[in-house]
Amino acid sequence: MMLIDGKAHAARLRADIAQAVIARGAAGARAPALAVVLVGDDPASHVYVRNKIAACAEAGITSIEHRRDADLAEAELLALVESLNRDAQVDGILVQLPLPAHIDAQKVIAAISPDKDVDGFHPVNAGRLATGLDGFVPCTPLGCLRLLESTLGDLTGAEALVIGRSNIVGRPMASLLISASATVTVAHSRSRDLPGLCRRADIVVAAVGRPEMLRGSWLKPGSTVIDVGINRVAKESGTGTRLVGDVCFTEAAEVAAHITPVPGGVGPMTIACLLENTLKAASQA
Ligand code: NAD
Repeated sequence: MMLIDGKAHAARLRADIAQAVIARGAAGARAPALAVVLVGDDPASHVYVRNKIAACAEAGITSIEHRRDADLAEAELLALVESLNRDAQVDGILVQLPLPAHIDAQKVIAAISPDKDVDGFHPVNAGRLATGLDGFVPCTPLGCLRLLESTLGDLTGAEALVIGRSNIVGRPMASLLISASATVTVAHSRSRDLPGLCRRADIVVAAVGRPEMLRGSWLKPGSTVIDVGINRVAKESGTGTRLVGDVCFTEAAEVAAHITPVPGGVGPMTIACLLENTLKAASQA
């Protein structure tokens, strides 16, 4: 079994982006700029935003944080997004999800200019991806595709199983794999015989959100496993917690040829792809 080192891949991608930002600067362009909007006090969201801002700084990308209280009115958030759309100094806009329950997240996503939608969640970008047009691709599945292509090379004809059909991971992942000429199956909570579907797959991308659900015995020997899941579980010792994926790593490592660890697999690539999308937005501005 070979570990797919997402951390190392992400470090290389981030270094490439930093170089490209320097080259832009030498040619007289200002640094790419990302506006990050954080509403409320979800602790995980605060950690994600902090990590994204630190990664921007390291790559020479300017980030502008807009923090708002949890009771922010939806109309005020829409007005903020509108002002960021109009601001020529802002290349990318990221509204950290989840939003408080009284705000319609779909409405907010739809208000972001598709040309600044570095998360790739706007319906226009989802449509571009589904129809094979260039646009912004959601960062997590883009990171997964990069890991798959650097591990396996050409994916043509590979049997790929995507488990999960969310707009953030599963659906865009399936679109990317179709465009890469894989033969794609999408499984979800209503699918029958998940172990049987797994056994056929050369590539399994698990984005379910259920700790260690996928067992080693479900996998085809020699397959490649991308574990998107991030689940916090209690430590066996009884004190503290640890992160696990959607795949039972120790079992899968016995059967698969390549597997991403959790943490250190998909997570770091997600942030690197956000930087890539921000650079792309700045280049197209
Ligand atoms: P989601 O809850 O929106 O979607 C989960 C999907 O799993 C659904 O489509 C559902 O149909 C499917 N599902 C649920 N139970 C199932 C079952 N028993 N069998 C088959 N399918 C089942 O979640 P999401 O936003 O797509 O995220 C999935 C996981 O990936 C979560 O653990 C999340 O934390 C993680 N995640 C990681 C990153 C990263 O950067 N590494 C980014 C986004 C999400």
